[in-house]
Amino acid sequence: MTDKVLCYSCNKTKNKLNVRKSILIPINLLMCETCISNKFEPRWVIILAGRQSGSDCVKEFIIKRRYIGNEISASELLV
Ligand SMILES: [Zn+2]
Repeated sequence: MTDKVLCYSCNKTKNKLNVRKSILIPINLLMCETCISNKFEPRWVIILAGRQSGSDCVKEFIIKRRYIGNEISASELLV
């Protein structure tokens, strides 16, 4: 049994994770301090929010690359 908790944003195991409300969708995220201080949102949250509310509301995050992982393409925001 492993009881590893991963940061939702960078997917790394951290000793300390904090609960933070997502800026984009009404859920709680577990994130490490690095990701929180960089104002990151998990990549999947940005995609989900973009699909739900339109690409305009996530544009900031995509342009400023406030997420970790592969670049989010416009087609990923379309359902
Ligand atoms: Zn992190």
